[in-house]
Amino acid sequence: MSTPPDPTDALSAVPAAGARRGAPVTGRLRFFYGPMDCGKSTLALQIDHNHARQGRHGLLLVRHDRSGTPRISSRIGITRGALEVDEDDDLGLVVRRRWAAGHRVDYLIVDEAQFLSRQQVEQLAELADDSQVDVYCFGIATDFRSELFAGSRRLFELADELQAVQVEVLCWCGAPGRFNARVAHGRVLRAGDQVLVADTAVAAVEASASTGAAAAITEGVTLAPTPATTVRYQVLCRRHFRRGDLGPNIAQEGQMILA
Ligand SMILES: [Zn+2]
Repeated sequence: MSTPPDPTDALSAVPAAGARRGAPVTGRLRFFYGPMDCGKSTLALQIDHNHARQGRHGLLLVRHDRSGTPRISSRIGITRGALEVDEDDDLGLVVRRRWAAGHRVDYLIVDEAQFLSRQQVEQLAELADDSQVDVYCFGIATDFRSELFAGSRRLFELADELQAVQVEVLCWCGAPGRFNARVAHGRVLRAGDQVLVADTAVAAVEASASTGAAAAITEGVTLAPTPATTVRYQVLCRRHFRRGDLGPNIAQEGQMILA
């Protein structure tokens, strides 16, 4: 006596749970994204802590850490040492070297993942698929022009899971903050280099003719070539980002000063 086919399976190409047991196990590639100061690094360290407590071994990677030393540092004071990833590093090779040296790597935590190259994100996907490594990426989706960073773009395309981290960053109007506006002289900048070199509290635009920084300022404001112009970032909702409206209290010092 044969059992009739399960009608709920009729349109599904996905094997039932029993059959899936034979399928290859893969890791997951996840991308947690949000504006500056939304708690991404804190979440990264929390996830690392949770895994480590389960006896899993992780490797922490970071691009352009804000502290200037390779570590994942949250603004609430928790810090862990990390491996600095350079532009040309093959992340698959980085992990395989760890394995060759006798270390376990069950999962990766990657902070400032927006700065990864397209290829590096693809290497992370490969680690998940072929080496069963779970990969947790944390980063900012869009730059000061509201356009995707290269690493974030590739993560949006490839990740198994995308999660917006919207902890406590609000625009001055109270709406959820979504965009990192680059601000100088009380104005929102609309053009310029995507990444400013800034590993201290104050980012400085090198207002040389070659970078075109002075010419990049909107609305005819010209930067003095010297001294360097102080640039800060302010998180805004889309409406106020589009309008360049920094709110009634423009001098919000202490709020996100850096790239
Ligand atoms: Zn707003």
